[in-house]
Amino acid sequence: MVKSALNALSAYKPGKPLEEVRRELGLQKIYKLASNENPFGTSKAVSRILREGSIDLSYYPDGAGRVLREAIAKFHDVPTDQILLGSGLDDVIQIISRAVLEPGDNIIEAAPTFSQYSLHATIEGAETISLPVDETTGKSDLTAMANAVNARTKIIWLCNPNNPTGTISTQREVLTLLESVPKDVLVISDEAYYEYATSADYPDTFALLDQFPNVIIMRTFSKIYGLAGLRIGYAIIPEALSEPLNIVRLPFNTSSIAQSAATAALADQAFVKKCVDANTSGLQQWYDFLDARGLTYYKSDANFIFFDTKRDATELFNKLLQKGYIVRAGLKPNWLRITIGSTQENQGCIQALTSILEEK
Ligand SMILES: *Cc1c(COP(=O)(O)O)cnc(C)c1O
Repeated sequence: MVKSALNALSAYKPGKPLEEVRRELGLQKIYKLASNENPFGTSKAVSRILREGSIDLSYYPDGAGRVLREAIAKFHDVPTDQILLGSGLDDVIQIISRAVLEPGDNIIEAAPTFSQYSLHATIEGAETISLPVDETTGKSDLTAMANAVNARTKIIWLCNPNNPTGTISTQREVLTLLESVPKDVLVISDEAYYEYATSADYPDTFALLDQFPNVIIMRTFSKIYGLAGLRIGYAIIPEALSEPLNIVRLPFNTSSIAQSAATAALADQAFVKKCVDANTSGLQQWYDFLDARGLTYYKSDANFIFFDTKRDATELFNKLLQKGYIVRAGLKPNWLRITIGSTQENQGCIQALTSILEEK
């Protein structure tokens, strides 16, 4: 009854609600450091709008999301027509995949990387070419990605910083890739963690848009802006794709509340700055701990740290859960990905992990 591509897949299994986990384990508090949300919540300007309750929910939202798209266009100095809104980047990834991919096509991605690129490729009947990151540095291999392009390649997904490694591809690496792939292959820079990147050679992809009409840039309000629960993100798309992508996009894919909140969030860059600084010191807490224990990790330009625990990560995951810390295992054997929290949360998680590692 269902399309055959679905036979190879299984449905996303969401984690249990936090409150349920807390009650089951008999803990006072539970810390979720599993999905790279912002430990500092969101901008006060956003909270104010949500509290006011002045958005009339009996009307459909503005399907064009005009106010938010104009604010984003102004923020990045790009034409409004080239902004595509999505109910989170998950939605944007689905829209692009649905509009572009046909059975027999392929996409190219790093391994490990964000799971949704390949999921939607499979649903559309396309193949995924996965190229392992460098084992030592954790960096995506853009040369291998460029070399893997063939006549059926439609999309190269560049997750930058990459989830779960936290590593970046540099301006030079991205430019070299763009210069060597045909202009009919979309190169999509997923910059969900863009704001957190502090490395000097992190690329300015906006500077590449004029020269490369096959580039798409994706940004989200779910991570540093602290609005994961509202579901809103956007892409800067080539003019030529505006019509086809908007055919596929559901007419009211982003809610009025999400549009208003995101507009206010974007305007508060002081909040963003504060969170970046806190994240940088949080990463340092983890580096100090991992260095002291001699555990291997990748240097992160994001709000999470990915490291080799040198033991069964699933077992560690369960033990950390017993102590009230939800982290992420299952991305690479023995490795854990942990979201950078507040100073206190990082300290608590590091302490919990230390006591587990020192058992028996
Ligand atoms: C979290 C994440 C997304 C999805 O974010 P949305 O909440 O759907 O906007 C996209 N890409 C990467 C790499 C992510 O980590």
